[in-house]
Amino acid sequence: MSYELVAGLETHVELSTKAKIFCQCTTEFGGDPNTHCCPICMGMPGTLPKLNKKVVEYAVKAGLATNCKIRNVSKMDRKNYTYPDLPKAYQISQFDKPICYDGYIKLSSGKNIRINRIHIEEDAGKLIHEGGDTYIDYNRGGVPLIEIVTEPDFRSIDEVIEYLEKLRLIMKYIGVSDVKMQEGSLRCDVNISARKKGDEKFGTRTEIKNMNSLNFIAKAMEYEFNRHVDILESGGVIDQETRRYDSALNITESMRDKEDEDDYRYFRDPDLVNIIISEEEINKLKVELPQLPDKKLDIFMNEYGLPKDDADLLIKYKKIAEYFEEASKGIKNKKLVSNYILSQVYRRMPTDSDKEECSVSLPPKYLGELISLLENKKINSSMASQALEKMLDTGKPVSEFISKKDMEGIDEGLLREICLRAVDENKEAVESYLGGKEKAFGAIIGYIMKETRGKADPQKAAEIVKEIIKTS
Ligand code: ADP
Ligand code: MG
Ligand code: ZN
Repeated sequence: MSYELVAGLETHVELSTKAKIFCQCTTEFGGDPNTHCCPICMGMPGTLPKLNKKVVEYAVKAGLATNCKIRNVSKMDRKNYTYPDLPKAYQISQFDKPICYDGYIKLSSGKNIRINRIHIEEDAGKLIHEGGDTYIDYNRGGVPLIEIVTEPDFRSIDEVIEYLEKLRLIMKYIGVSDVKMQEGSLRCDVNISARKKGDEKFGTRTEIKNMNSLNFIAKAMEYEFNRHVDILESGGVIDQETRRYDSALNITESMRDKEDEDDYRYFRDPDLVNIIISEEEINKLKVELPQLPDKKLDIFMNEYGLPKDDADLLIKYKKIAEYFEEASKGIKNKKLVSNYILSQVYRRMPTDSDKEECSVSLPPKYLGELISLLENKKINSSMASQALEKMLDTGKPVSEFISKKDMEGIDEGLLREICLRAVDENKEAVESYLGGKEKAFGAIIGYIMKETRGKADPQKAAEIVKEIIKTS
C-alpha cells in the first residue's frame, strides 16, 4: 500500500530589532550569560511590559511579503506554562487575533503553500546542561519572534525545504531577521502525518520540535514518515505527540503528549493595550518593502534573458543581485555580466558571509565599464578577464590597466589586412589545414593575435581567415 506524506510547519523567526520586545535590553546573540537582561525580561513581579513598535512593523512587513492580510486591531495574550526558562510562568504571545493571517508562499512548481497566520511572541531563555548541572541564561528571554504557521499543504520533503529556503530569503530581503539557522534565529516545528494515497482524511500527526538545520529537517521527516507508515501498515495507531530528533542516532523520540489549547489557559494580557495599525500605516510599510526575490527572478529571466540557473544564483544573496543590477545598467547582453560575476567576481567571495555582504572592493559601475568595452568589441574576452583580475585586486577602473589605444579595438578593415598577411606568411600551416590538420589553423590565429597584441577577436579572425582560404 502506498502512503502520502502530509506536513505543516510552524516556523519561529527571531526579529532583528535592536531592543527586546517589552524592554530596552539588547537582542544581540551570545554575550556572557544573563548580561542582556533587566527586571522586565527576567519576569520580576511588579514590572510592566511596553510593546516595542518596531516589532509590530517588522511583523507587518513579514506578513505583507508573504501575501497575508493584516489585522488593524490585534492584542497580546498570555500562554501559561511553567518551565525554568520562562520566569513569568507565561509567554506573551497572540492567540485568537494574530496580527497577520491568510497568506501564502508560491513554490517554483506554481503551488501555493498557504499561511494560516503570523503572530508575534517573545522568546524564552535557554537552559544549559553541563556536568550534571543545569544553568539558565535569560539573554534570549524577551527577544521578539514571529511564528509563521502554514496549512498542512506540504506533500513532500522537497516542498518543505523549498518553502523554508524561500521564507528565509524573503525575511532576509526585507531585513526583519538575519535568519541564521545555526544561531537559532530560524527554528521550525514540523508536523507530519501519513495517509493512504487517495484518502481524503488526514492521518494523525506528530510534531517534531525545534529543528534548526535543513539537512536535519529532511532526515527527521524521512525517519518520521517511515515510522508512521510502519505503524499503520502493521495495523497500529499513531499517538498524537511531540517528538524530538536525535541527530546522532538519526531517530525521533517521544518528548511528551501533545498539549491542548485548553492546557495553556490562554487569556488576554491585561498589562498591554490593543495593537492598532491603520491602513495608512500598512501602506507606508508596503512602500518600504524592497523588491522581493521572486520578482527579481522574474525580471532577470524574462526581461534580461538570463537562464534560470544564473538567475537563481544571483538572487540568492540580495547584495549580489543588486551588484549585478548596477553593473549591467546600459549593457545589452546581461548574460555577459552574469558570467563574469558568477565566475571571477564570485571567486573573490569564498565564504557565505562574503557573499552575503558582496565583499568585493570593485564598484559595480567599473565592472559595467569593462563589459561595455567587451560588448562593443573594443577589447576581447581574454583582455577583459586579465584586466578584471587586476581591477578586483585593486578596486580601480579598467582605464588603469588597458591603455586608451588598446581600448580602441581593431576595426574590421585592419583585421582583414592582418588576416591576409597571416595567410600569406603561413603558407605551410594553410596547406596542412587544407590537408585536414585542424590543429594547423591555430598557428594562423596565433600569428594574428601576436600581431595585434591580443586585441583581435579570435572568432572574428577565424571567420575572415576561412573566407580568405576558401576564395583564394
Ligand atoms: P495546534 O493548534 O494543535 O498546534 P494547528 O491547527 O495550529 O494545531 O496546526 C499546527 C500545525 O500542524 C500547522 O502547521 C498545521 O498545518 C499542521 N497540521 C495540522 N494537521 C496536520 C496533519 N494531519 N498532518 C500534518 N500536519 C498537520
Ligand atoms: Mg500550534
Ligand atoms: Zn530586559
